[in-house]
Amino acid sequence: MAKRDYYDVLGVSKTATDDEIKKAYRNLAKKYHPDVSTEPNAEEKFKEIQEAYEVLSDQQKREQYNQFGHEGPTMGQGFGGFDFGGFGGGFEDILSSMFGGRRSSSSGTNTRGNDLRTSVTVTFEEAAFGTEKEISINKYETCSTCSGLGAESKSDIEVCPKCRGRGRIVQEQSTLFGRIQTEAVCPNCGGRGKIIKKKCSTCNGAGRVKKLSKIKVKIPSGIEDGQGLKLSGYGEAGPSGGISGDLYINVIVKPHEIFVRDGLNIYMEMPITFSQAALGATITIPTLYGNVDMKIPAGTQTGTKFKLANKGITSQRSGNTGSQYVAVNVVTPTKLNAEQKDLFNKLSRTNEKAESIFDKIKKFFKNN
Ligand SMILES: [Zn+2]
Ligand SMILES: [Zn+2]
Repeated sequence: MAKRDYYDVLGVSKTATDDEIKKAYRNLAKKYHPDVSTEPNAEEKFKEIQEAYEVLSDQQKREQYNQFGHEGPTMGQGFGGFDFGGFGGGFEDILSSMFGGRRSSSSGTNTRGNDLRTSVTVTFEEAAFGTEKEISINKYETCSTCSGLGAESKSDIEVCPKCRGRGRIVQEQSTLFGRIQTEAVCPNCGGRGKIIKKKCSTCNGAGRVKKLSKIKVKIPSGIEDGQGLKLSGYGEAGPSGGISGDLYINVIVKPHEIFVRDGLNIYMEMPITFSQAALGATITIPTLYGNVDMKIPAGTQTGTKFKLANKGITSQRSGNTGSQYVAVNVVTPTKLNAEQKDLFNKLSRTNEKAESIFDKIKKFFKNN
């Protein structure tokens, strides 16, 4: 059956203005809208009107149609698999104003995929300097066979005959107050506005498939245990080519053998010998940036804290760098050989200052 000329369909002249075309379409759509029309073949007529309007209301499509007719370069593609998903040229607006319906924002093609949550474990050093981790996650991805269409080809998708692609249907009821129009999701297409004639064999029409995906995650330097990362669009693909959800990653930082972290600062305990504490020494301290020499003065008490500036963690966000704090812990020797015992005895006899403190303590006990 030959296609009717679009100008004839709308009953306008080849030189009709945009307004004339719009007006003609509005009148015809009112007359033939299948939800309200009592005309025979209303559905076919309405479809024909829609198609004509879609082309003639678009400057570029109209010019191509004028030049090439129905067989034009974009027409073949355009009408083989006419994209009813998103009417551009004010089509929905016109319908909305005609039927008082609201444009459905939840029409099937825009259904968002689920957000996903997972966790990734990094070492203390990886958290300090930042790293890249590959995580594997089982999730819905857009079907690569049909690119989310859900159909074998574009021509296997047709506009839902019940709702004419709107995804919603208008129902009219007669009540005491007159005729009331209500809108509901089209039960025939579930609100998608489209029907798939031949489903994609890979995804069986869903437009997405569940599979194991490997995702590279950049862990910024300075991240702390329990902090989260959000990867927008890395969640599950939406059904029927809908947009993807987000992926939330909880970062777990493994504890370090000797370093403890508080914000950007690092704390550690460093054992030193009796003589190092008494005489002073230069000791080697491990840091995230390699070993550094640290001087401790003579007479250092156990628990004394030393600060190594800028040896902490650098936050990628703020650019600030913390420090490393070293608390020295004087280790009391437990196993002494004869020579060491002798030396400590000699030391004990000379250590009057310390003994005077012990005397004070003895006095303190006596007085109480
Ligand atoms: Zn598919
Ligand atoms: Zn429908």
